[in-house]
Amino acid sequence: MASKLTGTVALVTGASSGIGADTARQLADQGATVALVARRKDRLQTLTAEIIEAAGTALAVEADISDRDQAEAAVRQTVERFGRLDILVNNAGLMLLGPVVGADPQEWERMIAVNVQGLLHTTHAALPHLLKAAEEGPRRVADIINVSSIAGRKAWANYGVYNLTKFGVNGFTESLRQELADRHVRVGVLEPGAVDTELNSHNNDTIHAEILDPFNEQHERLVPADIADMVTRPRHTAIAELWVMPTDQA
Ligand code: NDP
Repeated sequence: MASKLTGTVALVTGASSGIGADTARQLADQGATVALVARRKDRLQTLTAEIIEAAGTALAVEADISDRDQAEAAVRQTVERFGRLDILVNNAGLMLLGPVVGADPQEWERMIAVNVQGLLHTTHAALPHLLKAAEEGPRRVADIINVSSIAGRKAWANYGVYNLTKFGVNGFTESLRQELADRHVRVGVLEPGAVDTELNSHNNDTIHAEILDPFNEQHERLVPADIADMVTRPRHTAIAELWVMPTDQA
């Protein structure tokens, strides 16, 4: 029996670890051909081999999406190889916490470059293909899932510029959702609470000791699981916003 996403092609950014890697596995399990995009090609190749071993189809695409040329090339390479694009998961992200006072502005620039500009680059490049996919099938619907965060809904001290990027993603997603609704490109935002991934690992020891470790010791974190569900819904159903939390996270 054909799986729900048979015949579709998905591109997942940040597929070399965490939520992106698991999303790519799930989309492949559902029958989608998956392009895996990130900078660490060795990780992408390992996951590609795993998906192919499980009878799926995948392609490793090395790209730094904060560079517009590389982001556009990643989309182009995917469409040239597989002939179409039905699903874009804008998942790549970076979280560097700390006070605004005395911050290194280069850390802000890195977060904005990936979380905001990278997402815009891939979205802009993918849109013509997604619009075509929505018109021509096989599902007659296409999807953009933007992975934001609870930090796109709530702000806290020390999360300043990460909050800025994720609030921005939420606003952009809703605007684009309205723009594309009648063309059957579903645009939705996923806002996870804490997920056990490599995201925290880029922070310094002080941030770990004062913010991240105490939190993680108290909470059972989520495992990545929800994105495939957003894109396997019937054509007439769109999830505009999914805020998914560990049960005990306030
Ligand atoms: P990970 O650090 O495990 O994954 C981040 C991914 O982004 C990696 O695959 C990384 O790949 C990729 N990436 C980073 N910079 C770039 C770049 N310039 N170009 C291409 N890819 C890039 O963290 P998560 O899986 O947790 O994060 C995924 C998303 O989920 C992020 O947007 C994050 O903000 C969001 N999120 C995470 C939560 C959590 O608690 N973990 C909670 C809420 C939201 P590489 O280094 O190989 O390029």
